[in-house]
Amino acid sequence: MSAVIIDGRRVAADIRTEVAQSVRDVGELAAPRLAVVLCGEDPASAIYVRNKGRVASELGIRFDLRRPPATSTCEDIVTLVHGLSDDPDVDAVLVQLPLPRQIDPERVIDAVAPEKDVDGFHPTNIGRLAEGRPGPVTPGTPAGCMELMRRYDVPISGRRAVVIGRSTIVGRPMALMLINADATVTVCHSKTVDLPSVCREADILIAAIGRPAMVDASYVKPGACVIDVGISSTDTGVTGDVDRASVEPVAGWLTPVPGGVGPMTIAMLMRNTVALARARRRLARV
Ligand code: NAD
Repeated sequence: MSAVIIDGRRVAADIRTEVAQSVRDVGELAAPRLAVVLCGEDPASAIYVRNKGRVASELGIRFDLRRPPATSTCEDIVTLVHGLSDDPDVDAVLVQLPLPRQIDPERVIDAVAPEKDVDGFHPTNIGRLAEGRPGPVTPGTPAGCMELMRRYDVPISGRRAVVIGRSTIVGRPMALMLINADATVTVCHSKTVDLPSVCREADILIAAIGRPAMVDASYVKPGACVIDVGISSTDTGVTGDVDRASVEPVAGWLTPVPGGVGPMTIAMLMRNTVALARARRRLARV
């Protein structure tokens, strides 16, 4: 049997449609406003931010791009983020990472007001997620993985889940979300001994590593759900962490790259923006 291929493009399009409806519900005069800080000249960041701006405007979300110079000091960026956090007309604040070297990303993330922290990376929001009582938003990429599994009826409660990767952006919040969904979770990383045998215990295997095609069939329990978060540019194009040709015949579900988790991240960002706007305006949750 061959894996069900999870269509992230279709699910992301469904979520964008739902978000556009919520934006209309929130009210046209006070459309949700997302402020984005892009500092520096990282070409990938510029593309990500352009795509976010395009989707925001398609959905009726006001997109407020701030472009402080690459020579900005940490103090400059913290002051800018404090200003956006204090601005009553801003619902959501996103700082595009990575920041130039002279700027401490932790100080900047800490400067975002928790109630406007659209990425869900502020320690208050990660802490709430860790306590099992998340706020209105949670980090977009792992939230997108959860949403894909839910919409494809992948059983989570009581199942064994293995997350490869322990970054604050993907691996750690992913593990917390799986725990909160009652999975039994193992987190692996670059020091894990005999990674394939740990992964073979997983009913749900999340690969968030950044090593092209590292996960082959020898990592996969037959019938498992394999979620490929990895994005690497290779000579053959954009490649995930999973060797699709090897894993597809063994897995029960599989997210492709491209077209799996990737499209979900921006869709979840937009959903988070509306959720923060609703929470601030004391409207019902989306
Ligand atoms: P990261 O570099 O911060 O973390 C990678 C993790 O992989 C680390 O915890 C490390 O311990 C682990 N790792 C590295 N080599 C390993 C090995 N040989 N065996 C086991 N574990 C190993 O990266 P990240 O920010 O978490 O991103 C991971 C991947 O996901 C990258 O390819 C990134 O581009 C991609 N990503 C995709 C999206 C999306 O929207 N789809 C969003 C964020 C990140």
